[in-house]
Amino acid sequence: MQPRASAVAADRPRVRLVRKGSLVREGARVVDASSTVTLVEASGKHIIVDTGLPRDCDKLLFDLNSMRADPETVDVVVNTHLHMDHCGCNELFPNAIVYAHVLEDPPVGTNRVSGAVTLLPGVEIVPTPGHTPGSVSVFVSAEKRYAICGDAIPQKANYDSNTPPAIAFDRGLATKSMEMIIGWAQIIIPGHDGPFDVVGKR
Ligand SMILES: [Zn+2]
Repeated sequence: MQPRASAVAADRPRVRLVRKGSLVREGARVVDASSTVTLVEASGKHIIVDTGLPRDCDKLLFDLNSMRADPETVDVVVNTHLHMDHCGCNELFPNAIVYAHVLEDPPVGTNRVSGAVTLLPGVEIVPTPGHTPGSVSVFVSAEKRYAICGDAIPQKANYDSNTPPAIAFDRGLATKSMEMIIGWAQIIIPGHDGPFDVVGKR
């Protein structure tokens, strides 16, 4: 029997945007923020990257339902860092193992990472510190190379103006992390904005 053409593609991870994050400023001050939420499907597993602000959990449930994704079947949640606007709805995923960097001081029961970790073939947690000491990104080799990067790159405007996140415990590290992400990725999913292409990338 001939293998179906789709069988090959099915082995490759797939990246789907669940919710586009938001960021509201008054002058230079951030007055409201909720994170982007992303679903990665790989090797038959479901991975959610960041879960948004507690206020938005109902909206997140609605979005998951409308894309026929069942929170109960999510195997892994990765928090790019532990600011409340990125981990506020972790409890929507009762069966997930939660991953966060040890320097974020994660709660008991979290799977603490300290370096790069391959979660599944084509899906890697990569330290991208600067915004916080333990910020991580999720690099996914899907039909293109996706970096789901939390506040290492909060918005497309940071990429356009080559500016690291305004809130950074270490600006030098934040700049290096941003360069590393842009060097690798073809598509960036930022912490508080929709996905965008890295220009001129093969
Ligand atoms: Zn943050």
